[in-house]
Amino acid sequence: MKKIAEQLKGVKPESKIHILLDNGHSSSKARNITPGKRTPYLVSGVEPALSMYEGDFNRDVVRILEAKLKDSGYSVHVLVPEDEDISLGERVRRANKLCKEYGASNCIFVSVHSNAAGNGRQWMTARGFSVHICQGASKKSELMANLLYDEAQKDGHFKMRKPLPNQKYWVNNFYVIKNTSCPAILSESGFYDNVDDCTFLLTDMAREAVATYHYNALIKYVQEVIKK
Ligand SMILES: [Zn+2]
Repeated sequence: MKKIAEQLKGVKPESKIHILLDNGHSSSKARNITPGKRTPYLVSGVEPALSMYEGDFNRDVVRILEAKLKDSGYSVHVLVPEDEDISLGERVRRANKLCKEYGASNCIFVSVHSNAAGNGRQWMTARGFSVHICQGASKKSELMANLLYDEAQKDGHFKMRKPLPNQKYWVNNFYVIKNTSCPAILSESGFYDNVDDCTFLLTDMAREAVATYHYNALIKYVQEVIKK
C-alpha cells in the first residue's frame, strides 16, 4: 500500500482515480462467441448488412473511450483485452484485484453493453438508452449513473429510458455491478434487435457518440469525487 501512496504523490489528481472498463461478452472473432448476443439473423426482408454482434460494439466503444481517457491523462484499465467471452466471475475478480490495489473508493467500474428485447429470432419494438446500478448502490454509483444519463440525453440520438420521471437509473442486480467492490454502473446503449437503433449502432458515429457520453460523464464524475 505504501508503495502505491508514494507513486501517487505528485501525479495529476485525476489520475488518482482508476477507471475500470468492462466490455461485455465476446467479440465476433472469439472461438466461443456468446450465443444470442447479435441481431436477429433469420428474418426475411431485412438487409443482410444489418448484422451486429453486441460484443463488437462494446469493444469499439471501450477502445475509443480508453484512448480518449488516456489522451487526457486518466488512469484506465480495460478488464477484457481478449476477444473471448470471459466469465462474469473472472471480470469481477479482475476488477476487485484493482480495487484492492488502488483502494475501492479510488476506482469506478463501468460495464458497456447494448440491449436486446427479444430472443434473437425477430426484430423488436423496444429501443433506447438506459443506465443501471445495483440495489443498495453507493451515492457515487448514483452520481455516475445520473451524469451518464444526462450526457446521452443531451446528445439526443437515443430515446431515453428511465423507470420513473424523477429517477434516471434502473436498479438491477446484474452480476458485475453487484459484485464489484467499487462504485459501479452498467450502460445499455440502444437495442441491437430494434431496426432503428441497430441502424444507428452499426455506424462509426454511434460508437464515437456513445464513447463520448461515457467520457464526458467520467470526467465530471472524477472532478466531483476528487473535490471531496
Ligand atoms: Zn450485453
